[in-house]
Amino acid sequence: MTIDQNLIAKIAAEVMARVQARQPETASGGAGIFQTVDEAVAAARAAQKQLKKLSIEKREELIKAMRQAACDNAELLAEMGVSESGMGRVSDKVIKNRLAATKTPGTEDLKSEAWSGDRGLTLIEMGPYGVIGSITPTTNPSETVICNGIGMIAAGNAVVFSPHPTAKNTSLVTIKLLNEAIIKAGGPPNLLTAVAEPSLAATNAMMQHPDINMLVATGGPAVVKAVMSCGKKAIGAGAGNPPAVVDETADIEKAAKDIIDGCSFDNNLPCIAEKEVIVVGSVADKLMAYMQRYGAYLISGPDVDRLANVILTEKAELAAAGCTEKPKKSYAVNKNYVGKDARYILSQIGIQVPDSIRAVICETPADHPFVVEELMMPVLPVVQVKDIDAAIELAVKVEHGNRHTAIMHSKNVDNLTKLAKAIETTIFVKNAPSYAGIGVGGEGFTTFTIAGPTGEGLTSPRSFTRQRRCVLVDALSIV
Ligand code: NAD
Repeated sequence: MTIDQNLIAKIAAEVMARVQARQPETASGGAGIFQTVDEAVAAARAAQKQLKKLSIEKREELIKAMRQAACDNAELLAEMGVSESGMGRVSDKVIKNRLAATKTPGTEDLKSEAWSGDRGLTLIEMGPYGVIGSITPTTNPSETVICNGIGMIAAGNAVVFSPHPTAKNTSLVTIKLLNEAIIKAGGPPNLLTAVAEPSLAATNAMMQHPDINMLVATGGPAVVKAVMSCGKKAIGAGAGNPPAVVDETADIEKAAKDIIDGCSFDNNLPCIAEKEVIVVGSVADKLMAYMQRYGAYLISGPDVDRLANVILTEKAELAAAGCTEKPKKSYAVNKNYVGKDARYILSQIGIQVPDSIRAVICETPADHPFVVEELMMPVLPVVQVKDIDAAIELAVKVEHGNRHTAIMHSKNVDNLTKLAKAIETTIFVKNAPSYAGIGVGGEGFTTFTIAGPTGEGLTSPRSFTRQRRCVLVDALSIV
C-alpha cells in the first residue's frame, strides 16, 4: 500500500475548512486545536468549568451528538487513518469507529452508593477529575479519541489529547469534528483539545502541566512507564501479545475461522488480536488446513527465514554486563510492515497472492521471534505442543506477564478454567475471535483503552472519576 500524502492533506484541509466555517468566534474556533500546550490546557480547563454547570441530562445530549458525528464520519476517519499512518484496513477501521461511537458507555455508567441508618445518610458519588491528559496510539488514531472523548466527558471531564505524531491529522480532525458536534448541541467549546504539532516534547510538557489532573496512556511500555512515573493519578493501557490456544476438544473448523478473522482484523493492529497460536499436536494439521480455507497462506522452510529477514530487524546485544560470551541476538519489529496487508507482506518475499488472503501462517518453534515479539501485522506463528498443560505453560510465558488478552478454543471447561486462572489476563475470550472481548459479536460495552498494568481493566466513564463521600448526620434516613 502506498501512502498518499496529497490525499491526507486534501481530506484534512476539507474537513478543517468545513469545521471552521461553522465555528463561533473563539480562540481556536472552539474546535480545540492550539499552538501551545499551555493554551490547550487552559482552554480545556475553562471548558470543564462550563461542563460542571450543565446537568447530567445535558451532558448526555452532548454525548449523543458526539456519537452521531463519529458515526457520520466513520468512513472519512477510517480512510484518513489508513492513508496517513499506512497501517490497517479501511473497512475494519470503519467498524472500529462505529463501535467506539455506539458502544462506549455514557453517563449511565456512573453509579452512586448510599448508606442510611440511625446516624443519617452517607452518599458516595463519582465526580470528575477535572482535565485529563490522554495519550493515544497510532494504531487507533480516531477510535481512541472517540472512545476516550465520550467516556471522559460522560464522567464530567475535559480532555487534552496527545496523539501519536504519525497519525496526527486523523486524530486532530476527530477532535475538531467532536467539538463541533458538542458546540452544535449547546455544549462548551474546547472540551477536547490538542496542540497542532504533537511531539514527544509536547506530550512531556502536557504530562508535567500542573493543571492536568489525571493521565491516561494507551500505547506501548515506554508511555505506560512515563505516565506511571509522573506523580499523578495515571491509567496505563499497555502492550499485549495475545496467545490463541486450541485443544483437541475444540470445534477445529470454527476455531480456525475465528482465529483468522480475529488476527486479520485491521491487519492485526488491535492490542487484543491473536498474535500466536498454540495448538495441541493431535489437531494441528487439521487446524492449519482449515486456516488456509478461511484466508490464511501457509509458508514453510526458507520462506519463513526470508520473511523474518524482512519483518524483523536484528539487534546484537551483550548478554549481560561483564559477560565474555558471544553477543546474544535479539529482534525488533520492522515498523514498515506493521499493519500492512498480508498480500503486500508476502510480495516482499516474492510470493504473489490475491487480496482474499488475509493472513500469513507458519509453523515455528516456541522461542521464535514471531512468537515472542508483538508483531502487529497479519503474520501468525503456529506452535505445536504435546498436551494442554504444555499449551498453558507456553501461553503464560509468551504473554510476557502483560496480563492483557488471551483466547482459547476448547469444549473442556476444566481446560478453559485452567488457562484463565494461570494467565490472569484482563480479557479472556472463549470460542470466538479476539474482538468479541471488546463487544464485537460478544456481550458487553467497548473500550479502546484496556488498562492491565494499572488494573482498571476495560476502562469506561467510571474509570475517569474520583469517589467523593457526602455525609449528613442524624437526618434524611426515613425509616
Ligand atoms: P507507542 O507506545 O509508540 O505510542 C503511543 C503513544 O505514546 C503515542 O502518542 C506516542 O507519541 C506516545 N509515547 C511513546 N513513548 C513515549 C514516552 N516515552 N513518553 C511519552 N509519550 C510517549 O505505541 P503505538 O505504536 O502508537 O501503538 C501500539 C502499541 O500500543 C502496542 O504495543 C499496542 O499493544 C498498544 N496498545 C494498547 C492498547 C490497550 O488498550 N492496552 C490499545 C491500543 C494499543
